[in-house]
Amino acid sequence: MDRINCPLCNNKNFKIVLKKDDLSKYYDLVKCEDCGLGFINPLPTEEDLTKYYNAEYAVPEYQKVKLIKKAKKVLNLLKKYGLDSNSKILEIGASHGFFLNEVKKQGFTPYGVELSKKACDNAKKYFGINIENVDFLQSSFINKKEYFDAVVLLDVLEHLTNQNEN
Ligand SMILES: [Zn+2]
Repeated sequence: MDRINCPLCNNKNFKIVLKKDDLSKYYDLVKCEDCGLGFINPLPTEEDLTKYYNAEYAVPEYQKVKLIKKAKKVLNLLKKYGLDSNSKILEIGASHGFFLNEVKKQGFTPYGVELSKKACDNAKKYFGINIENVDFLQSSFINKKEYFDAVVLLDVLEHLTNQNEN
């Protein structure tokens, strides 16, 4: 696999911070010597990422309690900024739907976008969440003239492969 330039500043000088063997390929964590961005180099292909998110991306039982607690905390914060009973909340990278299920339980309307098909299926099956299994740039929620009272990204930024485009 080919090395890439820094996705942020396009510099090609970087130092290897950590060597990592994953998905039976080598991915190094590098740091750009110009802007200081840390990123995986080479980047996994879209195909590898899809495979990874669908196969390995499960939520262990012990993490569920933690996720629900975090969901309530984030929602309390959003309520301080003024949600009402008609509020619509979109989560990008909604995973298995724990946050959006809390949104639903508290009487707001949840929408989600998630790359992992398995996680999407779980969010639909267990929580009845309206969730799309697409890259968020392709989501009909974003491309329609739909509006949301809040858009939430939790633990998402570090998964983006092109920060300038996203
Ligand atoms: Zn850079």
